Amino acid sequence: MASAFSHAIVALAMGKAVHSKQLSWRELFLGALCSVVPDFDVAGLYLGIQYGEVWGHRGLTHSIVFAALFAASLVTLWYRGKDRAAMMGLFLYFFLCTASHGVLDAMTNGGLGVAFFSPFDTTRYFLPVRPVLVSPIGISEFFNEYGVRVLASEAIWIWLPSGVAFLVLRVVQRLWLVKSVASPSSPS
Ligand SMILES: [Zn+2]
Repeated sequence: MASAFSHAIVALAMGKAVHSKQLSWRELFLGALCSVVPDFDVAGLYLGIQYGEVWGHRGLTHSIVFAALFAASLVTLWYRGKDRAAMMGLFLYFFLCTASHGVLDAMTNGGLGVAFFSPFDTTRYFLPVRPVLVSPIGISEFFNEYGVRVLASEAIWIWLPSGVAFLVLRVVQRLWLVKSVASPSSPS
């Protein structure tokens, strides 16, 4: 896993990068929650489920199918009755937040890979480039020198690119808005 901080930072950066009135702090909080939910599968390790099994760590809960089902459930339960476009936008945001978890895990240098295509294909995958130091599973193991190195690695490879992507998207949107205001459709 990458640390919960980094998963949440990516979710928040994605939400704040988009100029949308649908994404208030409540939705951003839910997006951050989506981004850490896949790691609830570590409970299975204490229940005797092996790491490499379908329900093992980085298994089904880290898949694209899970991300789609979780996002759809969230929108159906909390946003039923909103107009279709708003529900689709929220689904997309929650899906990306949940799915981003597996992508970050696949960039780490430890553990097994991520079962992106589970349950159809349970092969574990890593990205070709894996610069992020893998985060320890237990919280107690986090508060030592290795934990500091993990956070430093995530700051360079996750927080910084997220911040840059956020700023670039915001600037592009602002320029787009300025252009739209400056050149309204010509009067008839
Ligand atoms: Zn994970």
